[in-house]
Order: sequence, then structure tokens, then C-alpha cells
Amino acid sequence: MVDEEDLRDLIPSYAYISLARRGMEKISLDQCFLKDCDNQDPKLLEPFKKEEYEEEKKEIKKIYIKCKKCNGIFILKLETLKYVAKSTKDEEEEPLSMGLVYALDENGNSLGHIGYF
Ligand SMILES: [Zn+2]
Repeated sequence: MVDEEDLRDLIPSYAYISLARRGMEKISLDQCFLKDCDNQDPKLLEPFKKEEYEEEKKEIKKIYIKCKKCNGIFILKLETLKYVAKSTKDEEEEPLSMGLVYALDENGNSLGHIGYF
């Protein structure tokens, strides 16, 4: 049995989209990312499965979510960098601790890069 509440805790509340010089825009991840669906009600989103694995420099979590409005399934893919690339400069730089979030459809096809978390 997968605990739905635990899965919800894995999903960041917000992602940030870079607007170049205008800073960052914050968007809620409590929404359906499937085409033609405008569900933004977390009560109608049911996370039901997760996959976790590691790639060379990334930790990846995939959260499968069922949307009860369009009855579709989509996947939030959360990528966290494990190591920060070293700058070629000698001076210390702020470590970049950043995750990337993507939306995928049920078959793993990309619906696009949502933003950073
Ligand atoms: Zn939907």
C-alpha cells in the first residue's frame, strides 16, 4: 500500500520559472499538467505511485498522479543535482542547490520543463 499523504509530501508546493531579467515566477504544482485540463484543485489530484532512482549526478523521483477531473494520469519528475559543478575560477562560488521539475504524460512522454524547485 502506498500512502497518499507521504507521496504528497514529496511534491514541492511550488516551482519557479525564470523570467530572465524579470526574476522568477512562482507556480503551484497542485495542478493538472495534461493538455486541455485546467484542474487546479489539489483535492482532485491523487498521487498513487512513485519511482526513485539515481543517475550519475542526479537523484530522480517520479510521482504518478491521477487527475480526477480529466481522468488522465501524469507524472511529475523531480531531478535533484547531487553534485555541483566546480567553477573553473579559483574563487568560491555559492553552491547551486537546485532541482528541476518536469511533467510527463502517462507513457513517459515529456509535457515540458515546468521550472525549478
Ligand atoms: Zn486533468
